Amino acid sequence: MTSFWGHQDNPFPPDEPRRPRCPVCGEECEAIYLIGTEIIGCDMCYNPGDFPGEDVQEDNPWEDSRCLEDY
Ligand SMILES: [Zn+2]
Repeated sequence: MTSFWGHQDNPFPPDEPRRPRCPVCGEECEAIYLIGTEIIGCDMCYNPGDFPGEDVQEDNPWEDSRCLEDY
């Protein structure tokens, strides 16, 4: 039996500045790269050579909720 269910709020104060993180490598990032809506990496981990011929788009991690979730 477990008493853990649902989502627990972050215990840390909310006034701590949050930085977007790459959901691929977990590093704080300043740019993310997507194919369609799929995040494939950030300025830290994205290697253009890994996605030859793909239509890779650069995006702002501050505008993508997937980069702002707490880990
Ligand atoms: Zn990354």
